[in-house]
Amino acid sequence: MVLSERVRNVRPSGVRKIFDMARKVKDPVDLSLGEPDFDVPLALKEEAIRSIHLGFNKYTPSGGIPELREKILHYLRLRGIACEDVIVTPGVTGGLLLAFMVILNPGDEVVIPDPYFVLYEYQVFLLGGAPVFFDTYPDFTLKETELRRVLSDRTKVILINSPNNPTGVVYSRDELEMVARVAREKQLLVFSDEIYDRFTYDGGGVLNYFGQLYEHTLTFGGFSKDWGMTGWRVGFVAGPKAIIDSMVTMQQYVFSSVNSTAQKAALLALDYNTDDLIEGYRQKRDLVYEGLRDKFRVVKPGGAYYIFPEAPDGDGDGFVERALEKKLFIIPGSVFSRRGSHVRISFAAGEPAILKGIEILRSLV
Ligand code: PLP
Repeated sequence: MVLSERVRNVRPSGVRKIFDMARKVKDPVDLSLGEPDFDVPLALKEEAIRSIHLGFNKYTPSGGIPELREKILHYLRLRGIACEDVIVTPGVTGGLLLAFMVILNPGDEVVIPDPYFVLYEYQVFLLGGAPVFFDTYPDFTLKETELRRVLSDRTKVILINSPNNPTGVVYSRDELEMVARVAREKQLLVFSDEIYDRFTYDGGGVLNYFGQLYEHTLTFGGFSKDWGMTGWRVGFVAGPKAIIDSMVTMQQYVFSSVNSTAQKAALLALDYNTDDLIEGYRQKRDLVYEGLRDKFRVVKPGGAYYIFPEAPDGDGDGFVERALEKKLFIIPGSVFSRRGSHVRISFAAGEPAILKGIEILRSLV
């Protein structure tokens, strides 16, 4: 066998499988997507094009262009987030990979609330670490007893994600303080994936960032979601200088540097007001929640653009198959969880698709 041991247990993402099926069907109702349905704002496109014409097309420094690093640090510090330095990475995906590379030794455990974004599990595996999950059902809040139950002397990192993919849940200040207390007591590092930070619908749209509470935090953020730049591949990781320095060194060998023109657009993006875009998503959230709440057991999402109801008979995979027969594409919860009872529905879609999706979902109960 030519393939490495490392890739033997890696399967293609279950999310991709659904995307690929949806592409082959005529007129699907596609509520499976993990990216916003709006395009990159015109001003940002123009900035990227302008930088191409000006010849900004070569390698950039491995840590990212200095003016962008500076601006991200300013953005984070304004929000009270502890960070000594920042690295620009090819999306949060690239940032997580570099962070795991510089932190994990073989067998080190990364504790992750379940349900979780699929990529975490596989990146930890690929780097020889062990993902360990703790349960957050049925309301998807972080519970201290569940967290403490899975800690061991191999635990090195707690990884949280708020607003959350796939549940849409936003963690409260109390939950974050609990995690900070446990992490401080056990001297653990916390990775906080806040890629959906602007997609926050309640509490005046103000997010509690984990880095406000604990200095040994790596804050992950990016430009994919807030400005619809998923294909441009820009994100960042901020935190303690020693860790960021190592990630910059690692980036020289892994990615070299990040897309030059996309960094120029990202520089402008941080000043770009996204309130209208987010308000549109708040309305979509209300539409889908109100459309499902009397028929499904479902937690109201406070952020991101996902809702994660329980399948009526507790069989998420079977429910997704029945939805597919009606050309509705959603993702089985088993892709994101040790449990298979729920389904992920994305409301990053136009209103007609959302309304049609609600109608189909209701007809299946
Ligand atoms: N983190 C979460 C929670 C996500 O949902 C996604 C994308 O769906 C990512 C990270 C990946 O982001 P990026 O495009 O910056 O690599």
